[in-house]
Amino acid sequence: MAGDGSVRLRVRVPAKINLHLAVGPRRPDGYHDLVTVLQTVSLHDTLRVRCDDGQALHPTARRRMGLVLTADGVGDGDVPLGDDNLVLVAGRRLMREVGMGGDADDGGPTTRLHLTKRIPVAAGMAGGSADAAAALVGLDRVWGTDLGPERLRRLAADVGSDVPFCVGGGTALARGTGTDVAPALARGTTHWVVGVDAGALGTADVYRAFDGLPAPAAADPDRMLQALRTGDVEALGAAVRNDLEPAAFALRPDLRERRDALQDAGAIAALVSGSGPTLLGLAADAAHARALADRVADLFARVEVVTAPAGGPEVVTEG
Ligand code: ATP
Repeated sequence: MAGDGSVRLRVRVPAKINLHLAVGPRRPDGYHDLVTVLQTVSLHDTLRVRCDDGQALHPTARRRMGLVLTADGVGDGDVPLGDDNLVLVAGRRLMREVGMGGDADDGGPTTRLHLTKRIPVAAGMAGGSADAAAALVGLDRVWGTDLGPERLRRLAADVGSDVPFCVGGGTALARGTGTDVAPALARGTTHWVVGVDAGALGTADVYRAFDGLPAPAAADPDRMLQALRTGDVEALGAAVRNDLEPAAFALRPDLRERRDALQDAGAIAALVSGSGPTLLGLAADAAHARALADRVADLFARVEVVTAPAGGPEVVTEG
């Protein structure tokens, strides 16, 4: 607890990339079954969580708890700050689970959340899902609700497809709509160049474009899982797959050219990240990644050099 009686912490939460993303046909409910191998990368958003008053942890006060969200950072203009922000969706889901919550202005205690965005928005790196995971983990800690990983993952699945993965992070194989997540083994660290686009691509638009294209050939994730187990970066490069790539290229033909340019600049493999428009280039090591980033800097609004896997959400208590 801080000197003023408040409880504060900071959650650093990483973005994800899909190393293997196989997409099945559209189901009657509109969703697609996925088989995907995911890893977190060292590009983080930060969520600060502050509960006004230590007394707020009293059961009566909890029932009147309000939530307030503010934000800054890259692309904050595109991030809704109202109830549809995934931080608040996740926070309210947690409150419902434990019987907490009222209105921010009914005179009860307030928990303040401040989001600093570094993960590009609507860019295929699950920034919103990562933030939702940060909210679940951070609020569970600040409020002392102590739900444990299983229950948190179940709440996460109610918030969104990528959120259960983001709660744990690391390397995982996910199925269904992405909510059925099992950890996977990965040896060593890989180095990636992340080419951030100035624009956004709506995930729903990309899936609609996917539905209008010929179905991709069936694929299983074994080749990728094997490459990860051995830590062989060339094998990993040969195994990357993203079934959403043709759909992203159909909506944004320039992405294909820049993907090819990344490859020509020396990437071991280059691909669209998730539903795009972010592009990823795999490098042999840290020095190669830096050189590659320099070579392609002019192609993107922003270029980041990252490593994978990063862990999951990291909680730091603030004094
Ligand atoms: P995915 O890779 O899971 O498809 P994405 O990286 O393409 O996701 P996000 O950055 O998660 O996309 O954002 C998608 C949309 O979600 C945004 O356009 C924004 O309106 C909304 N959104 C809600 N909360 C957030 C948040 N905390 N951060 C970013 N976007 C958010």
